[in-house]
Amino acid sequence: MSRGECVSGSEGRFPRSLLEFQRRFATEGACAEYLFERRWPEGFVCPSCGEGRAWLLKTKAFTYECAGCGRQTWVTAGTIMHASKLPLTIWFWAAF
Ligand SMILES: [Zn+2]
Repeated sequence: MSRGECVSGSEGRFPRSLLEFQRRFATEGACAEYLFERRWPEGFVCPSCGEGRAWLLKTKAFTYECAGCGRQTWVTAGTIMHASKLPLTIWFWAAF
């Protein structure tokens, strides 16, 4: 566990890694992409039928629909982020 120090009010001492971190996860899309790679490092695998192809739904955020059985899977499923209405970026930055 390394949560670091509270850095508010000391901008000059922001670690370089935090800047890189924020740059990398600046958007919801970047966060979702990271979660996708963590969940399926070998590529998408349907938890229901094992199908390896899925469509990224445009209508629902971070939701993949299995090309085989149509089951929808969230990249945030099973995590605290899924139950929250907070933007993913907030969670990533809070976890840093
Ligand atoms: Zn499936």
